[in-house]
Amino acid sequence: MPPPVSFLPPGESDDSDPADRYARQRLLPWWDQDRLAAARVVVAGAGAVGNEALKLLALIGVGEIVVVDFDTVSPSNLSRTVLFRTEDVGRPKAELAARRTREINPEVHVAAIDGDIGRDLGLATLAGADVVLGGLDSVNARWILNRRCQQAGVPWINAGITASDVQVSRHVPGDGACYECTFTEGMARRFNERYSCTGLVRRTPDRTVPTTAIGASVVAGLMVHDALRFLHDPATGLQAGQRQTLLLDGYRQFLDDLPVDPDCPAHTEPVRDWVTTDHDPATTTARELAFAAGLPEATRMDLTFELILSFTCPGCGVTENIGRPTVAVYEEEILCPTCRQERVVARGTRIPLDGPLGGQPLASLGVPPHDLVAVGIGDRPGTWLETGGSSPWRSSPSRPTHRHPEIALTGAQR
Ligand SMILES: [Zn+2]
Ligand SMILES: [Zn+2]
Repeated sequence: MPPPVSFLPPGESDDSDPADRYARQRLLPWWDQDRLAAARVVVAGAGAVGNEALKLLALIGVGEIVVVDFDTVSPSNLSRTVLFRTEDVGRPKAELAARRTREINPEVHVAAIDGDIGRDLGLATLAGADVVLGGLDSVNARWILNRRCQQAGVPWINAGITASDVQVSRHVPGDGACYECTFTEGMARRFNERYSCTGLVRRTPDRTVPTTAIGASVVAGLMVHDALRFLHDPATGLQAGQRQTLLLDGYRQFLDDLPVDPDCPAHTEPVRDWVTTDHDPATTTARELAFAAGLPEATRMDLTFELILSFTCPGCGVTENIGRPTVAVYEEEILCPTCRQERVVARGTRIPLDGPLGGQPLASLGVPPHDLVAVGIGDRPGTWLETGGSSPWRSSPSRPTHRHPEIALTGAQR
């Protein structure tokens, strides 16, 4: 009888446990399954790249995933999205993707946010992630995710696909180039196509790029590999501000160190310390939140995103309070409903608590659950508060290291 055929290199034996789901990957010398089981990853976008990334994260056994997408499944998605079926057309991508990801591996906790990355993903939720994966298809969506990750102090990995190549770049707040540092004239032009000259959102058709499932699969593989390297040791994998480009037909790849733009407007000090609250923004006004947090003398609330505060008509002299995120106000709304003149826009991030916006539920101003807002008096430094509501993370909404409940809400602020 011939000896059993071994597929292992001479001198190595397979002593892995066949009953262990993760037996083969545990054989990698740098692998730590427990680290991955404890990891939290946000997947921004549940399109072609997001689907592939979710599939890989679930197979690998990454502990917690939050997937965010505002869109519904369309027939043209079905050639590139492994998690969607024909009967899914018209249904929300994020919820379906979460459910199918759980089917791949029930040990993984997957939550869906059926909403917009900029408006519906609270900054504290984002800050609770170890790393964010960007499977996005527009400059505008990447711009907002980059801004939010800078504010939350969370690294993100950006994936991009063209007809001929795929790219992955790692962006770490405070270290190396961020996505906005890489803005070229072409990107700025595409970004501005979405906005009118008054800075309001234009209804433009989505720009579509010729792609196949192959590009999405390759780029998601590279992105998830870099995320695993980062989760094990941030010094491994791509460096901060580094971009990997793979030519699909040229069979070549390159690495670029993206230059840092010292004047990049996205660079900001991330929010590090905040006080958690249980107050759901759907039912709490800015004034109520300040009061509940023990800051009844507060005069203002600062948001981490810009609002259109009001429109004033030069013809009628009437001011209409708007109080919605700039990214949610469309250009045609600038016209006065009475005389059709173009109105003057007031925008900002600050809400006076004694004004009309201070008495509106925070959700109506665009503040999502587990977002961060700063409450203070006049121009003095404020206190950061985390809004309540349901959290997509299984355990605490934000990382214990970020939480400083011992900060007195009295004292310095008074
Ligand atoms: Zn930058
Ligand atoms: Zn008017």
